[in-house]
Amino acid sequence: MSELTRLSAADIAAKVAAGEVSALEVAQAHLDRIAAVDGQVHAFLHVDADGALAAARAVDERRATGAVLSPLAGVPLAMKDVVVTQGLPTTAGSKILEGWRPPYDATITRRVKDAGIVLLGKTNMDEFAMGSSTENSAYGPSHNPWDLSRIPGGSSGGSSAAVAAFEAPLAIGTDTGGSVRQPAAVTGIVGHKPTYGAVSRYGLIAFSSSLDQAGPFGRTVLDAALLHEVIAGHDPADSTSIAGPVAPVVAAARDGACGDLSGVRIGVVRELGGEGYQPGVLASFEAAVETLRGLGAEIREVSCPHFGYALAAYYLIAPSECSSNLARFDAVRYGLRAGDDGVNSLEDVMSLTRQAGFGPEVKRRIIIGTYALSSGYYEAYYGQAQKVRTLIARDFAAAFERVDVLVSPSSPFVAFGIGERIADPMAMYVNDLCTLPASLAGTPAISVPCGLSEGLPVGLQVMAPALRDERCYRVGAAFEAAVEPTLASIPELVR
Ligand code: GLN
Repeated sequence: MSELTRLSAADIAAKVAAGEVSALEVAQAHLDRIAAVDGQVHAFLHVDADGALAAARAVDERRATGAVLSPLAGVPLAMKDVVVTQGLPTTAGSKILEGWRPPYDATITRRVKDAGIVLLGKTNMDEFAMGSSTENSAYGPSHNPWDLSRIPGGSSGGSSAAVAAFEAPLAIGTDTGGSVRQPAAVTGIVGHKPTYGAVSRYGLIAFSSSLDQAGPFGRTVLDAALLHEVIAGHDPADSTSIAGPVAPVVAAARDGACGDLSGVRIGVVRELGGEGYQPGVLASFEAAVETLRGLGAEIREVSCPHFGYALAAYYLIAPSECSSNLARFDAVRYGLRAGDDGVNSLEDVMSLTRQAGFGPEVKRRIIIGTYALSSGYYEAYYGQAQKVRTLIARDFAAAFERVDVLVSPSSPFVAFGIGERIADPMAMYVNDLCTLPASLAGTPAISVPCGLSEGLPVGLQVMAPALRDERCYRVGAAFEAAVEPTLASIPELVR
C-alpha cells in the first residue's frame, strides 16, 4: 500500500500545496488501493477513475500557475450514492434508480468540486438510506475492514468502509437517524452530523426531509472539520438551509487538539446506556468519560427523560416522510420501468415498477408511513410522534442549561456479523438508540473513536446545542489527542 493512502487529508493538502507530491500521484495511489482491496470491502458502487485523474490534473495545473489552493485541494473523497453527481450513476442503493445519471450536481457535490477535492466515486449504502448495515443495498453489502465478515454500519456504510480501509481519506455520508455516526463508530473513524440546516439538502435524494442532513467522515477530527467547512453554508436552493455564518469547526478542532477542557461542562446522559448495551461498549464509554475528566472537564450526570421514546417517534416520522418522498419514483420520471408492454395500464406500470424496483425494507417503511398518515390514524401516530419530538427537543434545551455538551456511546453495539440482524427489523432499529435524539431535535453530534471492545471499534458521541457544532469538534479533538489512535490497530486487509 502506498504511504500516500495513510496520510490525513490535512497532510495530503499540505504536501500538494507545497509541491512535495502531485494531486495526480495522490489520486492514482487511492485508485490503486481501491483496485487492490475493494473486491473485498465493496465500499464503492461506482469508481470514476477518469474523472478523478482529470480533477487531480486540474489541481496540479492550478498550482503550477501559482494560484493559492483551497484548504483541501487535491484530497480524494468518496461520495455516498444518495448525493447526486452530474453525469455519474446515482442509485441511492436502489434498483429503481439503476442506470440513472443525474443532469445536475447537488450543492455539496458542487462545493466539493469547487474546493479542488477529487471525487473518486460513489459509495454503497442501504437502499434510500434506510438501515444500519448496508445489507439493504440492492447491490450487496459492504464489509467492515476490521473484520470482513461484519457490517461497516449504515446507511452510509460504503463511505465509512472506504475511509477505514484507506481507500479515501474523506467521505460524505448522510445522517437521518444516525447514518453518519453509527458507521463511523463501528469502523473506528470520525463522523459528524451537522445542525439540521447547516448543510444544503439540494440534490440529496430525500428520505425523511425534516431529518436528513449530510455530514463529513475522516480519520481525524481535523479532517472532518475541514470537510465540514467546505460543505456547510447557506444555500437559497434549500428552503431549510440556515442563513448565517458557518460554525468555526476547524478552529475548534485545532483548539481542542491542545488537550485542555478545563471549564467545559460535560453531561453524561443517564438514559443512553445500561440495559441492552454491550458491556464492552459501556466499559469503553466509561473509560472515555474518565479521560475527559482527566482533561479538566467537569462531568455531570444528566437525565433526558423522553429520550426513551425517540425510537418509537422516529420510526413513525421517518417512514411517514419517506412514503411521501418516494412517491416520485413512478416509472415515468427516473430509472426503472417495468411491465411497459403497451397493454398494461399506466397504474399497472407504476405498481409493477415499484414492486420490482423497491426492496423489502423500503416497502415496509412506505406501508408503515402510509398507514401512519392515513385519515383517522394521523393524530394517533404521526401527530403523537411529532409531540414526542418536541419533548425530546425540550429535554436537550433543559440539559444545555446545565452543561455545554452531552456524551453517550454512539451505538449500543460494536459491528455485528453480516446476516445476524437482517431478518428482524427491531434488532436492526435498536442500533439507532443513541443517535436518534439529536436527529429528532436537529442538534449536532459527532462520533469519535474511543477504543476497542473484543478487537472492534467503539464510538464516543458528543452532542451540542443547535448551531454549536464547534463544541462537538473541540471536545472530540481534545479526546482524540488524549488517546491512542484506534485505527492504528486495524489489521491489514488480506489480499
Ligand atoms: N438506521 C436508521 C434508519 O434505518 C437511520 C438511517 C439514516 O440515518 N439514514 O432509518
